[in-house]
Amino acid sequence: MYVEIAEKAGFCFGVERAIALAEQAAERNGDICTLGELIHNERAVAELERKGVRSVVNVSESKGKPLIIRSHGVSRIVEAEARKHASEVIDATCPFVKKIHNIVAELPEKAKAIILGDNDHPEVIGIMGSAGCTAFACRDFEEIKNLFERGDIAENDTAILVAQTTFDRSRFLEYSRTVGERYGCVKIYDTICDATVKRQDCARELAKRAALMIVVGGRSSSNTRKLADICGEYCETVFVTSADEIPLQILNGLRSDSLIGITAGASTPAYTIKEVHERMNEEITKINNENEEDFASLLEQDQSFNRLYTGKRVKATVVSVSKKEAVVEVGAKQTGYIVREELTNDPNAEVEDIVKPGDIIDAVVVKVDDSVGTAALSKKRVDAQLGLEKLQAVKESAETIEGTVAQVVKGGVIVIYENTRVFIPASHTGVPRGGKLDDLLKKSVKFKIIEVTNERGGRVVGSIRQANKEVRDAERAKFWESIEVGQKFDGEVRSIESYGVFVDIGPVDGLVHTADLTWNRVGHPKDIVKVGDKISVVVKSFDPEKKRVSLSAKDPDDNPWTKFVSEYQKGDVIKATVVSITEFGAFAQIIPGVDGLIHISQISTERVASIASVLTVGQEVEVKIIDIDEEKSRVSLSIKALMETEASAEDEE
Ligand code: SF4
Repeated sequence: MYVEIAEKAGFCFGVERAIALAEQAAERNGDICTLGELIHNERAVAELERKGVRSVVNVSESKGKPLIIRSHGVSRIVEAEARKHASEVIDATCPFVKKIHNIVAELPEKAKAIILGDNDHPEVIGIMGSAGCTAFACRDFEEIKNLFERGDIAENDTAILVAQTTFDRSRFLEYSRTVGERYGCVKIYDTICDATVKRQDCARELAKRAALMIVVGGRSSSNTRKLADICGEYCETVFVTSADEIPLQILNGLRSDSLIGITAGASTPAYTIKEVHERMNEEITKINNENEEDFASLLEQDQSFNRLYTGKRVKATVVSVSKKEAVVEVGAKQTGYIVREELTNDPNAEVEDIVKPGDIIDAVVVKVDDSVGTAALSKKRVDAQLGLEKLQAVKESAETIEGTVAQVVKGGVIVIYENTRVFIPASHTGVPRGGKLDDLLKKSVKFKIIEVTNERGGRVVGSIRQANKEVRDAERAKFWESIEVGQKFDGEVRSIESYGVFVDIGPVDGLVHTADLTWNRVGHPKDIVKVGDKISVVVKSFDPEKKRVSLSAKDPDDNPWTKFVSEYQKGDVIKATVVSITEFGAFAQIIPGVDGLIHISQISTERVASIASVLTVGQEVEVKIIDIDEEKSRVSLSIKALMETEASAEDEE
């Protein structure tokens, strides 16, 4: 194990300068005042007091003594008031903050100043009070927009925009770009100080390589808390105010080659960082010397301490549940609780759906508050880690799993699988382009895992489309194994061509040729069916290699030939309608679906040169059935035979 301190950690330039000015003044005068605490660090404040630097709330309390204005700066009124009471005013306003004071102070009286920042923050209060014109503090773009909509600032006003030095840079860039696009009258000044951002970047880089990060700083320092949050995204992280608070037993769980990182907030004195560094080095040396000690017994000792610290994994027994949280017993002096948002990633799940009294669950400590005797825990963070491991295995085995769609987000949906969030891109949802992803909400879906990464707390990507394809492929394989001629299906017309229609019969589409659509004569298939029609079909033939199925929609029970042979016989004289004329004769319909041929030689007793001169389509004729070929389902008709019968009857008369 080895220890590394982040490249940028501890006092920033502004705080270091303010403390140096205070210490020099105390050395000169013995007893001096600061207007508010110089720094958000209990120990550093106590150390300054020991040197004669005392903080006061009102300037009047500094009567006759030197007064230091801290790095945040103050308004012009407060500064003037201070000069009335204090023997000397030492301005330790950070030069970066002073630059903003100068910008707003030089504005003409009718101008307007917008200060992006927190209107309760002393720095923002000081800037507002230094402006030579009306100034507005805004937290975001909405509040800036309201100023224009309410008429507080007009489009032709002289206006400027500055930001609190510690304002988030990405938000500043976003808001200032929008302001620039919409309100051309606003001049924008980038007044953000990168000291905080640089500390965060260095802490992040170190945390990515470390097994454990120790973040040192005052409990009330927001920039130190932010550092702890950033580090916590990458590795186990503990937040301490001094070397005495380091939970040294945490080292027992680390590998022998682990890197332990140290970072500190902008208000943490160098001597506190040094003490933490030294304590860690001492402990690591001790551990390295005892490295033959049994690891399991060390773990056992750790359990017996029952001391909770941030990042510790525990077994928790659920004691009670409410709408907001579950109260848990962790075998420590603190009462544990897990709020709903730390139980699950599913925004729709209720606490009682997830745990019930008596359940024993794995959880991780996220915050210990000894002042009230509570410990905040998280179940979902443990689940997420276990989930990532499990989903990696699912990906490798190409297994299909099932989860519930919990959210529609930009570019896809979120499915919760055993408390792990899985992102399914829109193109993998199976919803056609332009379709509504909302229709999937709260539905159970089957999907495959296509990507798992551990970066930024883990990211899992799934695909419903791939799971659907696998199901379809399996159904198709089964279809080709079991298909038989004569098999019946209820299908749906997918498309219509001049030669027939394609019918969806489940895993595949089959073709019903035009002649197989109906027993009757058909001009074009669209005269009989339309896309979407449901029709019953039977398999005529199939080719598994070419993946082709030939179908028929003709119902055998309606076969008109069966009806014909049961009602008519050779020698019958019947009426038939001419339906078509060819070179060799004319076809005449006897009943729908059965046509007979009147061969050219059977049309008349006299020679027929042109059939069309004797017969026309639609003409009803009397004919004699002269032959029925049951095997070929053919009927031969004759007009001539009737003429001959008539002639012989006349001869007999
Ligand atoms: Fe000055 Fe930046 Fe430190 Fe603030 S954070 S005191 S602006 S150096």
